[in-house]
Amino acid sequence: MDCLFCKIVSGEIPSNKVYEDEMIYAFHDINPMAPVHILIIPKEHIASSMNDVTGENSACIARIFEKIPHIAALAGLAGGYRVICNCGPDADQTVLHIHFHLLGGKKLSATLG
Ligand code: 5GP
Ligand code: ZN
Repeated sequence: MDCLFCKIVSGEIPSNKVYEDEMIYAFHDINPMAPVHILIIPKEHIASSMNDVTGENSACIARIFEKIPHIAALAGLAGGYRVICNCGPDADQTVLHIHFHLLGGKKLSATLG
């Protein structure tokens, strides 16, 4: 499968790692939208988007949410943070390997849409 984030997990495309375990990988976004902008992904290509999450493949999504506080702490986000998952064209999803944006490092705008 020709997937950018699968290539990042395999190391074919280099990335700046923040956290990794056997299920998930977190790395700095190449085009940060905030002082800290981390992407968190399942290592396995279990879903292209949120629409593909099922009871069978959701364990790594649960793992992502369990680890977000730890990843935020590693990144020094003591003041708080925002987690975003873009799904589909109206949300401007550009990479079809499910991922969660972890944003922080400043007081973020209250406007999302
Ligand atoms: P989306 O718009 O699909 O929710 O988010 C995709 C994100 O992937 C964007 O924020 C974009 O900057 C990031 N991105 C795209 N290509 C690369 C890359 O090669 N390396 C890294 N680290 N991030 C990337
Ligand atoms: Zn993938």
